Amino acid sequence: MAKIKKTIKTIKVDADKCNGCRACEVICSAFHAEPKYSSINPARARIQVITHRLKDIWLPVFAGEYTPAECMGRDKYIIDGKEYEECSFCRAACPSREMFKDPDSGLPLKCDMCESDPPLEKPKCVEACLNDVLIYQERVEEVEEECALDDIQTGLEALVDKHGFQKLIDAVALMANRS
Ligand code: SF4
Ligand code: SF4
Repeated sequence: MAKIKKTIKTIKVDADKCNGCRACEVICSAFHAEPKYSSINPARARIQVITHRLKDIWLPVFAGEYTPAECMGRDKYIIDGKEYEECSFCRAACPSREMFKDPDSGLPLKCDMCESDPPLEKPKCVEACLNDVLIYQERVEEVEEECALDDIQTGLEALVDKHGFQKLIDAVALMANRS
């Protein structure tokens, strides 16, 4: 397979500094609203702050890949004496929880590092975090060319899992007839 140069974008999370202000969720949902900044709904954010006040837990987690199946087991972590809930560190939109799904359509949400044209200097959540919890970094790596599923395919997969293939085909046919 051919090698290509790829810019790897990462956000380092210094979770100990997070105070749960949720500014990252607010700006992410506003930036991804259609049209941009037309609405704010943290349930649509591609970053969620897992919060447990009594345990002093504030953990920012970014939305990752959609997965159609629940995992076979769950993990619990204890770090510095704090016990984190099952699924706390999981980035997937999956059938067993509502996290990282659009509240209206149920479609999975995924962090896209605020891709935009022209490109932003840094992602919006990084800019909005005043406690330096989120630290943006870029590096260039040589990687093998891959055929990744694009956002449309991922969305279609999620719809097929939720409603079944035939219902999706029927809906598309109905829309085609109307247009
Ligand atoms: S903006 Fe920063 S401090 Fe506030 S919740 Fe998000 S990560 Fe935590
Ligand atoms: S990088 Fe952009 S898309 Fe990803 S969580 Fe932050 S604001 Fe949202």
